[in-house]
Amino acid sequence: ESQLNPNYSFDNFLEGDSNRLARSAGLAVAKKPGGTSFNPLLVFGGVGLGKTHLAHAIGVEIKDKYPEKTVLYISAEKFTQQYIESVKKNTRNDFIHFYQLIDVLIIDDVQFFSGKSGTQDVFFHIFNHLHQNGKQVILTSDKAPVDMQDIEQRLLSRFKWGLSAELQSPDYETRISILKNKLYRDGVEMPEEIIDYVAKNIKSNVRELEGAVISLIAQSSFNKKEVTLDLAQQIVEKFVKNTKREVSIDYIQKIVSDYFQMDVATLQSKTRKRHIVQARQLAMFFAKKYTKASLASIGSQIGKRDHATVLHACKTVDNLAETDKQFKKYIEDISKKLTL
Ligand code: ADP
Ligand code: MG
Repeated sequence: ESQLNPNYSFDNFLEGDSNRLARSAGLAVAKKPGGTSFNPLLVFGGVGLGKTHLAHAIGVEIKDKYPEKTVLYISAEKFTQQYIESVKKNTRNDFIHFYQLIDVLIIDDVQFFSGKSGTQDVFFHIFNHLHQNGKQVILTSDKAPVDMQDIEQRLLSRFKWGLSAELQSPDYETRISILKNKLYRDGVEMPEEIIDYVAKNIKSNVRELEGAVISLIAQSSFNKKEVTLDLAQQIVEKFVKNTKREVSIDYIQKIVSDYFQMDVATLQSKTRKRHIVQARQLAMFFAKKYTKASLASIGSQIGKRDHATVLHACKTVDNLAETDKQFKKYIEDISKKLTL
């Protein structure tokens, strides 16, 4: 089972300045998997800009051209879970062997490997084997290799062997064509001024753009509301508000303290009580994950710690997430509250 989603094709991955290089590189790889210098092909960019879509499209196209080739799409998270499972069950070698037999391996969101040395190690060996045998590797990530943290140097250097291509936020023209394509595929007509309004006001992310147009379609077809500029404004406002709300470090500390029923001062205090230390470490972890603040700045805002303490906190949380079910649940619960 290739795990490919046939709905994510090149046909409906609309081209624009923001994605031209990545898209063409993807097409080149699909024509000659393993036979170009784009190996690995690493597609990187922010959330909702089409990494997963493009990754599937490449796989779908290869499967179409070369039905005999084995193509596998997997998220880095699932790959990691499978690996951990295999270690538990003593089937690590089978795991490696399985992956070494694949012709085209697509791993989505490799930033997930960060800090996970066991998974990185096993992937390093699989990667080398595939690459040496002329097999194609396609990776996506939310960051360029130079900006990836807690990924081993030897793996980073492999990531840079091929081509790293960025997906950027779509420009106005591309936003218009994405909206029109979506409406066309759903067989819905919408006034030009509405399309224009949405395209002008949702700029940073294709997923938001699609979300807004889906809401508009739903309002008009299910609630039988006329799609007026007024309605479009309301919907766009909701989307922009919901998704653009900056998660601040203060907000993270508030949510984490509330979750553990303590106050922020306690979370920041110098105490070494285990549950308080853990709450503090989680706050640091989420600050690193959801804000652009530097480690030093996170530390100074969460009880005047230094950057090494923050780094240590993030590693501790990563490790506990892998080994401690209860702790993993904390992370999931708090994540949900933060991204609501
Ligand atoms: P990412 O993996 O980067 O977070 P996705 O691949 O999930 O983003 O894309 C988010 C949504 O936007 C998907 O529904 C995808 O089909 C759509 N999308 C992204 N880029 C394009 C594009 N160039 N043309 C059409 N749809 C796109
Ligand atoms: Mg994705």
